[in-house]
Amino acid sequence: MENLPRTCAPNSDALLLDGKRVAMHIREQLKTRVATLHQRGIIPCLAVMLVGDDSASHTYVRTKAKACESVGIRSIVRHFPASASQAALEAQLDAWNADPSVHGVLIQHPVPAPLDEAALLRRLDPRKDVDGITPHSLGALVAGEPAFGACTPLGIIALLDAYQLPIEGKHAVVVGRSVILGKPMALMLLNRHATVTICHSRTRDLVSYTRAADILVAAVGKPEFITGAMLKPGAVVIDAGYNRVEGRTGDVGDVAFESAAPVASAITPVPGGVGPMTVAMLLHNTVDAAERYG
Ligand code: NAP
Repeated sequence: MENLPRTCAPNSDALLLDGKRVAMHIREQLKTRVATLHQRGIIPCLAVMLVGDDSASHTYVRTKAKACESVGIRSIVRHFPASASQAALEAQLDAWNADPSVHGVLIQHPVPAPLDEAALLRRLDPRKDVDGITPHSLGALVAGEPAFGACTPLGIIALLDAYQLPIEGKHAVVVGRSVILGKPMALMLLNRHATVTICHSRTRDLVSYTRAADILVAAVGKPEFITGAMLKPGAVVIDAGYNRVEGRTGDVGDVAFESAAPVASAITPVPGGVGPMTVAMLLHNTVDAAERYG
């Protein structure tokens, strides 16, 4: 990206990876592509399935719908109560799968138990999986075949690229192995020729791995879990976490920013780092879907 200001994190020399700014730039570019689609009579459309009353999920869905609107993507949100039947959810998915005016479908995670979220994901048409987390899309990532990438790791790669931070040949350590984040992150870094280590809750001597990381991705879901003392000097530190902490306003990342920034060469803030990139990638995938299959 041209003209990207290079600002340092407070009280350190580390480059602040400004996801908010990069995401805004991506959204501006998407507006042009959406305008071209509109001229062809195609209105890109994202359909969102929201089940239950999880307040964070409702907030995320509102944010995504607003973001769609801002670039000219139509969004449909269908809210089901937690008491809805699996059959009702599947019928809605079948309808969206068959509807040519719907280009992308997002099943907001988590779908409350005993409903079967995995079965819903398996049912979704891979051509509409703009969240990139169905078994089909993840399998394609393993095979190195084209498919929609999971939005958060895709956003992290886009952020590293925007700042021209090299990936090839680097030792990348991903802390976390969830299906939506840690695993696809590791695969995307591997596909970009990093040497990748994946750590998880049963990793022994975690610090010996984190201290060896040129690129450290924190995807743990534990506030300020990664501290400066766990980092190699000069590491690029990506904080994918956002956690609600009682008594603190706003979201708290998985990295203790104040101790990590003086050790890192580049670091993402929370908020304003990975979060806006995730939303930008959802829009990007939806526009891609409309261009490919619209
Ligand atoms: P998750 O499904 O709970 O996975 C957490 C991972 O961290 C698991 O693989 C777990 O290991 C590992 N872990 C837990 N404790 C550990 C420890 N002590 N040492 C090493 N690894 C440990 O969470 P997620 O959905 O991947 O999300 C992770 C974070 O990213 C959360 O803060 C979430 O809010 C955030 N997130 C952000 C975005 C965004 O748009 N920015 C999107 C999605 C998620 P095991 O597998 O062994 O249990």
